[in-house]
Amino acid sequence: LSERIQKALKNLTGKGKVSEADINAASREIRLALLEADVNFKVVKDFIKKIKERALGQEVQGSLTPGQQIIKIVNDELTKMMGEEAAKLNKAPHIPTIIMMVGLQGTGKTTTVGKLAKYLMDTEKARPLLIAGDIYRPAAIDQLKQIGDQLSVPVFSEDEKDVAKIVADGLAQAKEAKNDYVLIDTAGRLEIDEALMEELERVKAVAKPDNIVLVVDAMTGQVGAQVAETFDKRLDVTGVILTKLDGDTRGGAALSIRAVTGKPILFTGQGEKLSELEGFYPDRMASRILGMGDVLTLIEKAQRDYDAKEAEKVAQKMRENTFDFNDFIDQLEQVQKMGPLDQIMKMLPGMANNPQLKNFSIDEKQIAHTKAIVYSMTEAERQDPDLLNPSRRRRIAAGSGRPIMEVNRMIKQFKQSKEMMQKITSGNTKALAGLPGM
Ligand code: GDP
Ligand code: MG
Repeated sequence: LSERIQKALKNLTGKGKVSEADINAASREIRLALLEADVNFKVVKDFIKKIKERALGQEVQGSLTPGQQIIKIVNDELTKMMGEEAAKLNKAPHIPTIIMMVGLQGTGKTTTVGKLAKYLMDTEKARPLLIAGDIYRPAAIDQLKQIGDQLSVPVFSEDEKDVAKIVADGLAQAKEAKNDYVLIDTAGRLEIDEALMEELERVKAVAKPDNIVLVVDAMTGQVGAQVAETFDKRLDVTGVILTKLDGDTRGGAALSIRAVTGKPILFTGQGEKLSELEGFYPDRMASRILGMGDVLTLIEKAQRDYDAKEAEKVAQKMRENTFDFNDFIDQLEQVQKMGPLDQIMKMLPGMANNPQLKNFSIDEKQIAHTKAIVYSMTEAERQDPDLLNPSRRRRIAAGSGRPIMEVNRMIKQFKQSKEMMQKITSGNTKALAGLPGM
């Protein structure tokens, strides 16, 4: 998924202007990418519609290129599609909080019962009880008991045909032992069938769970989302745990589930080990799907910190070739406002692992020296750098307390920066690398 979307968006990032045809072409690619990723077609249709509306209707903001703005729109909408904020488990007003795990066979219910128990023990010092509610395969009870042993957590099981009775007895024991959480493992089938649904409804009626957590295998893509819809209609699930995300490269299930069921993804399974459970963060997932590293963070930072009007003023000066040392100082301050410069560099695509960046440290002190030099210039000199003959340069060096060589170098860099600024104003952030002090 990432690769295709990235390609489509890359074509846009370089562009100063984006036409309707560009938006249509990018939308087409994104649409194909989502369908390839096995996202539900209705979800894709709505998604593309929103992207187009927003991309066509947007105001052009000074600090972002149109290409960057479209990336931001796509990212925002992907995040929204997955639920915007991280969701939490419901908690009962009195202990125990009851969590009932449901899902098809092999999706990871039993494993996830163990993972969730461990998570609650680690984060809340919880004392959970596990109930073995999958009675059809003896191995299923043993599997849960082994997990209980690993975690030193009690597992309730009974030689009994009626699952609802097992659950009722297990709950009675939990109340007596004052367990604060009860996690109920249930049986699954390879496909949804009526007998399974009826059994789960009976368990639900007895347990009155605070959470009915549906476990979905991420590798099943949009089929997973359809299954989720069916379970949700019958049982009104409270949330979803998406397992095997470690093996899923497409992201189709993550993208469809929220849109299809309206229910949040609570956690993700990232491996077979009991520690491999992670929270689900829609914004991080969206960035991961877009595969754009932290470029989105950078875009947001730029948008927050960089005054669009200021940018327009500079662009104007560039066009009129009146950019002088006063503007230069303003620009340095703008760039400094964005935060530690080396961090900003690392957010650029392809820069995080760039070996050159390893030896590339940004010297804030150097920026201070640069400013001192400019402050030692007269107003006339600042406005017209061509005035800066050797004797003026010596005076400035003395005034700023910097060596003459540094003054000379700085003036040379200023002239180079002028070119760079031109590139920045046309949206090429990589040009930042050429600023003095970087
Ligand atoms: P159940 O039938 O729904 O109870 O599924 P199980 O808990 O028995 O899990 C089925 C298989 O999936 C087991 O081999 C688990 O180790 C594996 N599994 C569960 N969760 C994950 C996960 O997040 N990542 C990976 N890679 N494997 C998982
Ligand atoms: Mg199981």
